[in-house]
Amino acid sequence: MNKKYDYDVIYIGSGHAAFDGAKNLCKQGFKIAFVEANAVGGTCTNWGCNAKITLDLPIILSKTQQRINGIVEGETSINWHNNMQHKHELIDNLKVNREATMKSLGMDVIHGFAKFYDTHTLDIGGEHVTSNKIVIATGLTPHKVGVNNTDLSHDSKDFLNLDKMPKSMAIIGTGYIAMEFASMANEAGCDVTMLMHSDKVLRSFYQPYVSEVVNEMKKSGIHFIQNSNISAFNRDGNNYVVSYGDNQKLNVEWILDASGRVPMVHNMGLEKIGVKYDDKKGIIVNNYLQTSVDNIYASGDVAATGQPKLTPTATFESQYLYHLFSGETDKPINFPAIPSVVFTSPRISQTGVSVDEAEKSDAYTVEKHDMTNSWFRQVTKAKIASNSYVFNKEHRLVGFTEISDDADNAIDTLVPAVNMHMNKEEIERNVHLFPSIGHEAWKNL
Ligand SMILES: Cc1cc2nc3c(=O)[nH]c(=O)nc-3n(C[C@H](O)[C@H](O)[C@H](O)COP(=O)(O)OP(=O)(O)OC[C@H]3O[C@@H](n4cnc5c(N)ncnc54)[C@H](O)[C@@H]3O)c2cc1C
Repeated sequence: MNKKYDYDVIYIGSGHAAFDGAKNLCKQGFKIAFVEANAVGGTCTNWGCNAKITLDLPIILSKTQQRINGIVEGETSINWHNNMQHKHELIDNLKVNREATMKSLGMDVIHGFAKFYDTHTLDIGGEHVTSNKIVIATGLTPHKVGVNNTDLSHDSKDFLNLDKMPKSMAIIGTGYIAMEFASMANEAGCDVTMLMHSDKVLRSFYQPYVSEVVNEMKKSGIHFIQNSNISAFNRDGNNYVVSYGDNQKLNVEWILDASGRVPMVHNMGLEKIGVKYDDKKGIIVNNYLQTSVDNIYASGDVAATGQPKLTPTATFESQYLYHLFSGETDKPINFPAIPSVVFTSPRISQTGVSVDEAEKSDAYTVEKHDMTNSWFRQVTKAKIASNSYVFNKEHRLVGFTEISDDADNAIDTLVPAVNMHMNKEEIERNVHLFPSIGHEAWKNL
């Protein structure tokens, strides 16, 4: 413990970018505090991944039942209210439990919004707290489209707390959150219209697979309006009107603005102490996650690392800072291939070198497989199932993408093979459970 300061490390934020590494530092005797302006545990724990996947499970069961209808008989329908109750049961206490865990480990939790007073001092509602090192782990916050009456729209957090599913919904945006929530709302009986900024959806994913997802969503009744050019939101009795295009109007019960998420960098005094940031990308860091001020670091979604802004990235960065601060490493951060999944029906997953990048270069070869005829996929009557492997010149696996109802589980089994750039011989040394999605994912390698 450095006696000059109240703490060895203070984290601004208490999500995965903070907690995961902090608990290990704490076990090594570091004096740690978190400053949290909202719910302890941050986005993933309270209003992100966990809440979403809880609400999504009945959607998947319903879709599966439709495919095997006649084997499992009867109509299914989603009781959204009960689905939401189940979410509350699973999620609402997590923040309390997380705070209790932090305190039981000997770490302090300070509730409030942190601003920099100087490079070693935070001002939290007028109280000053000092620390040798400070990690900015403030994450992202929903972006609002720049139109009139933007306050009439809702964000992803509101969607994840919707007690009653509206009859109709306009969704602004076509990123992964917009697409996942559209799939869920549609299956729960809502008439969904996607208002697209351009003619592209899920830009960072393999577009032929994206087209298949969009086609499935259209078949389920979701409308897509390209280049919508939204100009205003207005009230119409209990409903809302979205004005778009050339004087066109869409009348809906609910507007979800899922147009993106922006770094939480404002009103924190970063300019005063010289921490550089980019409004869109986040806090500028070097290869040690160190900001432009020596004792201040950034971790997770708010750090401009160019990595996917996902929980596993936040955890990896937080663990890296633990190794760096404890002296276990003095090396720069070396990112592994991080898997990304779009939890639509079907799902898309990808990791490592993308098919697009591979197809533009002589350094790679791509092998594509239609998996719909594979025996195991026929168990659940999968209509869409394809995957693509990317190999380097030595025929080592460096990338993978899949579209299927099991694309999330498929990629999870393949991540080690991609990260270790396994060759044929190494791949053959791995024996998989049979029958399983893992076995399916590896069998054509
Ligand atoms: C709807 C949704 C679904 C998602 N689904 C997935 C998924 O399926 N898989 C996945 O991997 N990722 C998913 N993500 C992304 C994932 O949640 C984030 O990548 C992850 O939570 C980032 O962790 P973090 O610690 O960097 O930031 P956060 O978890 O956002 O934590 C930042 C914390 O900092 C606090 N804070 C901000 N400013 C201050 C301040 N000045 N003072 C004090 N506290 C402050 C905030 O209140 C917040 O609690 C999803 C995100 C959303 C919104």
